[in-house]
Amino acid sequence: MTLPILDKPQPADLKKCVHCGLCLNACPTYRELGVEMDSPRGRIYQMAQVAAGKMPVNDDYVEHMGLCLACRACETACPSGVQYGRLIEGALAQIEREAPRPLVSRLIRRLVFAKILRSRFLLAAGGYKLLFYRKSGLQQMMRATGFFDGLGRLGELEQLAPEAQAPFFFSRIGKTFPAEGETRHRVAFLAGCMQNVFFSRLNEATVRVLQKNGCEVAIPGEQGCCGALHVHAGLRGLGREQARQNIAALEKGGYDAVITNTAGCGSVLKEYPDLFETGSAWRRRAAEFSAKVQDVSEFLASVELNRDFGEVRRTVTYQDSCHLLHGQKISAQPRRIIGAIPGVVFRELPLTELCCGSAGVYNVEHTDISMSLLEDKMRMVEATGADTIVTANPGCMLQLQAGARKFSKRQPVMHVVELLDEAYAARG
Ligand code: SF4
Ligand code: SF4
Repeated sequence: MTLPILDKPQPADLKKCVHCGLCLNACPTYRELGVEMDSPRGRIYQMAQVAAGKMPVNDDYVEHMGLCLACRACETACPSGVQYGRLIEGALAQIEREAPRPLVSRLIRRLVFAKILRSRFLLAAGGYKLLFYRKSGLQQMMRATGFFDGLGRLGELEQLAPEAQAPFFFSRIGKTFPAEGETRHRVAFLAGCMQNVFFSRLNEATVRVLQKNGCEVAIPGEQGCCGALHVHAGLRGLGREQARQNIAALEKGGYDAVITNTAGCGSVLKEYPDLFETGSAWRRRAAEFSAKVQDVSEFLASVELNRDFGEVRRTVTYQDSCHLLHGQKISAQPRRIIGAIPGVVFRELPLTELCCGSAGVYNVEHTDISMSLLEDKMRMVEATGADTIVTANPGCMLQLQAGARKFSKRQPVMHVVELLDEAYAARG
């Protein structure tokens, strides 16, 4: 069987690394652990050893690859153009094939990745259960009685659990929302998977802001999860299925742009072609699809922004989302948008290019390292004196919300489009 490119690290990508070490200081796990094998250079060396047949895919290898946040900060730092994102995704896919997990772990992953994330019904059912847990007072009671205090990691996870936001966004999927005023753009919005339950208000704000900026916003009903979580977990086969579903759902719409408000999804959506064989029909279709994908801040910065704002009195700092900054090289656009809002005082965040420790499900799998990165991040936030933290990715929002509760002053955490939405609402 010919493996589609990138289902393991490719020799041509590995050879680009000249082992200079200029990426080391940019790597959160190297900064945290100080271990060469947990640095980008060390990980690339191990991948090359495996590719050359000099090292098996053993437990050590699995551990060092698993500790990588896949934040891609090393990619930005690398002067040799090493595409580390491709390498780590390939390594994780190879691990998935060659080092099978214990049965229980495989069953749980199958349930989450192959069933729950792909089913609106199961996502909504989970969301309603979480809503009941919170609204019935059960959560408050269990926290007040210190139930989670002695449970170590489980207690940490309870703190990180997102809050479901009813009504869920699923009811909007399949609908088209008209532009306010003249229609200048026809765009499709990809609503994500978990965002429909845990970030319904963010999705609504995204649609409103696009409408305010002359967009007719279609939310095609045949769309599904983008597959980013699958790809980042090494499950490229499932990611590929999601890619096929979304390409088929949107390619005939003739949209000017396909918009996402989630940086992690955006990276994978823009890299859909990498999931398919060179020269294949799917690769060509994926390339046409990906060329239209834009992060919402990228899109808004590229059109004539509607500046009919009211004043927003906030002192704001901005945490770059890794997959927006390092994955998509987008940093100026969100700052330009924030800077355009009257009343907002902007304070740059020191070391904003370092990951907050969210990284998909990293904060669940490696809670200690994740919390340590988060604590450092919140110290930087405090140094800015900002009363509001803005970012561009729901996963980062959850992590920063947990950080604000645990290590700081419970500052509100907002997405860039929520800040814009507030400015339009302030105008009335
Ligand atoms: S992706 Fe991030 S954590 Fe992984 S090696 Fe690169 S900088 Fe380090
Ligand atoms: S990944 Fe780039 S910066 Fe890091 S050691 Fe290799 S060549 Fe140098």
